[in-house]
Amino acid sequence: MRTVSGPTDRVVIVGAGLGGLATALHLAGAGRQVTIVEREAVPGGRAGRLSRDGYEFDTGPTVLTMPQLIAEALDAVGERIEDWLELTQLEPAYRAHYPDGSALDIHSDVNRMAAEIAGLCGPREADGYLRFVDYAGELWRIQRDEFIGRNFDSPADLLGTGLLRLVGMGAFRRLDTKIGQFFRDPRTRRIFSFQSLYAGVAPHQALAVYAVISYLDTVAGVYHPRGGMHAAPKALAAAAEKHGVQIRYSTTVSQVETRSGRATAVLTTDGDRIPADVVVLNPDLPVAYRDLLPPPAPRRRLRHSPSCVVVHLGSSQEYRKIAHHNIHFGRSWRGAFDEVIRDGALMSDPSLLVTNPSRTDPDVAPTGKHTYYVLAPTPNLDLAPLDWRGGLGERYADQLVATLEERGYRGLAASVETREVVTPADWADAGMAAGTPFAAAHTLAQTGPFRPGNLHPGLENVVFVGSGTQPGVGVPMVLISGRLAAQRVTG
Ligand SMILES: Cc1cc2nc3c(=O)[nH]c(=O)nc-3n(C[C@H](O)[C@H](O)[C@H](O)COP(=O)(O)OP(=O)(O)OC[C@H]3O[C@@H](n4cnc5c(N)ncnc54)[C@H](O)[C@@H]3O)c2cc1C
Repeated sequence: MRTVSGPTDRVVIVGAGLGGLATALHLAGAGRQVTIVEREAVPGGRAGRLSRDGYEFDTGPTVLTMPQLIAEALDAVGERIEDWLELTQLEPAYRAHYPDGSALDIHSDVNRMAAEIAGLCGPREADGYLRFVDYAGELWRIQRDEFIGRNFDSPADLLGTGLLRLVGMGAFRRLDTKIGQFFRDPRTRRIFSFQSLYAGVAPHQALAVYAVISYLDTVAGVYHPRGGMHAAPKALAAAAEKHGVQIRYSTTVSQVETRSGRATAVLTTDGDRIPADVVVLNPDLPVAYRDLLPPPAPRRRLRHSPSCVVVHLGSSQEYRKIAHHNIHFGRSWRGAFDEVIRDGALMSDPSLLVTNPSRTDPDVAPTGKHTYYVLAPTPNLDLAPLDWRGGLGERYADQLVATLEERGYRGLAASVETREVVTPADWADAGMAAGTPFAAAHTLAQTGPFRPGNLHPGLENVVFVGSGTQPGVGVPMVLISGRLAAQRVTG
């Protein structure tokens, strides 16, 4: 494995996102002197916090899978996750609501889930589910050890891995075709394949290797940290500080200073110069190249994932028919993906994620009140530079609330006490390429060793971490990317 060259004692990490924090913990545990420079006043980046009128909202991720990766980062400095986070396993992990009025609870307990599927779709479908669990579990084990959890120096590193086993398992066929080998009912097909959207690709275009995301989502367990997802970066930051990492909040890096093919310091907009033996960059990768590093930036044009609108609602109304996480499927299926990913249009019959954290964690809302987080996939700004600033965001949020009222959230609009709408224009303002918080899509050409690498191609001591580099998008992946970035420093 290639590593940075030269001394590695003083490491400066730009950004206290989950990726930057995980890197810091692994490096502090390996005896490096680590400074994090973070633009915001709090850690977490996309896993941020919005406080409004007594309501507390997570700004980004809400579905926590694989908390053992948080534990792994804490373990690097000898800390135990139990001492830092109170985790509740969500039961059900999700509730799927279908346009015909039926609903399906996703249980992580395999037998319970098989019984749930048998009840709604019959015993044959439940058998298919059990075969899917075996298949996707095997896919996950191969990919975790041989593809996701390791650094690649070149595509040639793929040889000698489990590649042939994956080929033999049909993992390079289309995801929807593969899912169709296990499930016949359109409802189960949807709930076990929509997750490819998290990787930025539609199920009819994604490879079956992405069944691992469905596996993590539906079988491995979904958790809620007390206080919300933002509690996770807060815990990682506090543990890092306890073990000597210095975090400079509210400090923006303007440039990485370089000399003779090496980074020598980071410069801040306050005029400070922070010397470094190694610089680790956690900002969105294309933006780090564009704004912080000397030219030339790589000429490769990345295809970005779709973006999203998030509507945060603080409401006086409780809805008993929902769970913590809810997927409300529209009638349209392939059409919804085509609109968002191919045509650059808003979904005409939206499928939505509605998360209701206050039902698990009442402290995030005033007594007796509720928080709702509504996420609607939208095209990114590369595909469709829609006029989000010209009132479209608020109008679209009104439409989404009206859609939810039609789907059973009676009186929602009237119950809203506070509302915040976040659009692709806001993601772009926060420094995310193409106005999407989901980075480069996981097409085959942008996955594994083909995804932008975590070592700078020209500067000997610059490392990237986060969703724009390997292994990819989402909380588990960026925590792994933190470990991989640290390994590029420590060897
Ligand atoms: C709405 C939404 C929903 C999501 N849902 C889920 C989900 O349910 N489950 C899941 O697993 N994942 C989800 N994700 C994805 C997940 O949140 C991200 O993949 C992950 O948090 C990205 O972490 P990161 O470390 O790569 O980047 P970031 O969190 O963006 O961290 C980068 C950090 O760098 C800082 N920074 C940038 N520029 C500078 C500068 N010049 N100087 C100093 N600091 C700088 C930023 O302030 C930020 O703190 C979601 C994301 C969003 C936005």
